Amino acid sequence: MKSSIIKEALKYFTSPVTEAFPATKPYFPKKYRGPPVYDQDKCMGCMACAHVCPADAITVTEKDGKRALEVWYGKCTFCARCEEACPVDAIHLMEKYGIPSEDKFAFKSTVTHDMVKCKLCGKPIITVRHAEWIRKNLIEKMGDIVGPEEIDFFLTVCRECRHKIENIPELRKLLIRVLVKGEKT
Ligand code: SF4
Ligand code: SF4
Repeated sequence: MKSSIIKEALKYFTSPVTEAFPATKPYFPKKYRGPPVYDQDKCMGCMACAHVCPADAITVTEKDGKRALEVWYGKCTFCARCEEACPVDAIHLMEKYGIPSEDKFAFKSTVTHDMVKCKLCGKPIITVRHAEWIRKNLIEKMGDIVGPEEIDFFLTVCRECRHKIENIPELRKLLIRVLVKGEKT
């Protein structure tokens, strides 16, 4: 017992106990939670991260047929809920601290996506990538009851236009098929 205490104490005289930050990369414990950063290649702009953010640190803006998401570190609490909620692993908390800047609004990460416009009224409805992701999943999981044309109808016509009276019979037929399938499984 005594020898281990002496050994431990000697360590403080033989090697440095502080880190040479910022000259070297500091030690980050496992599961360290730094600022979240978007992966533009993987993100599909579904907004799940923004919906779950308890600090309201992620803003979503839609303009000129594009959707932009921005996480501002000035509000972020580094809780990692956005990382957990993302269905495609496109936002990660970095191993990073000390992000100095003279402009507090420079602390952020952003992604931008093109949007699909409603083919009936022209209103932007969903990002192109999110629509592709939903289409792929619907074909995989419900391809036997929902045809590609119906899927396209849902992904290229906004909710308001879908609810118009002339589309109700088609929606009713689809709903019945989905319910019948649900009862059989
Ligand atoms: S980071 Fe993930 S959850 Fe957030 S918009 Fe992109 S795909 Fe959706
Ligand atoms: S880490 Fe938490 S607070 Fe920060 S953006 Fe993600 S969900 Fe919001």
